[in-house]
Amino acid sequence: MAESEGFPLAEPGLWVERTSATNFPDGRPALFLDRDGTINVDTGYPDDPAAVVLRDGIAPVIEAANVRGIPVIVVTNQSGIARGYFGWDAFARVNGRVLELLAEQNAFVDMVLACAYHEAGRGALAVADHPMRKPNPGMLLEAGRRLGLDLSRSLIVGDKLADMEAGQRAGLARGWLADGEGSTIGGFSVSPLRGAHHVEELLTAIRSL
Ligand SMILES: [Mg+2]
Repeated sequence: MAESEGFPLAEPGLWVERTSATNFPDGRPALFLDRDGTINVDTGYPDDPAAVVLRDGIAPVIEAANVRGIPVIVVTNQSGIARGYFGWDAFARVNGRVLELLAEQNAFVDMVLACAYHEAGRGALAVADHPMRKPNPGMLLEAGRRLGLDLSRSLIVGDKLADMEAGQRAGLARGWLADGEGSTIGGFSVSPLRGAHHVEELLTAIRSL
């Protein structure tokens, strides 16, 4: 698979990349974020770095975690790769642009995990209900192992219930759902994230970790 050479793939359908040089002591809580629709505007299988636009209000959330020494981890399903819409090379370019735009706002991501597996995929990526694909908690658990995180105090921000379910199943403390409604999933509290007021509540939660 020449197209995947040189990329940080832990296995054919799993990207795991350390994107900062920051060292964290064991036992830190983390801020997990979905990418498309949460950090950047979701354009549907985004594959063009020039089209990447950040959502309002998300860079300050990441910066608040940076300031407090809380690892920031992106966990993103990328079934577009399994479906043959684009390759890891396009993922790398789009993701690099997302991180670049965040850095311009003084917000830095420490680790990125991406899962390409999907039942509608091709070849080695054609896996139904892969443990790394949200709503399964595999990517969060993998980051937890690699960084020695305290998942029980960690937070997740996403724009789909699958993000929240992954957080609940990984044993996280709490979730925030962009454009969504508040709810509870098996005792896991999901708060809405719509506009400045809710961003302030999320910032308060991060600062109290
Ligand atoms: Mg999303």
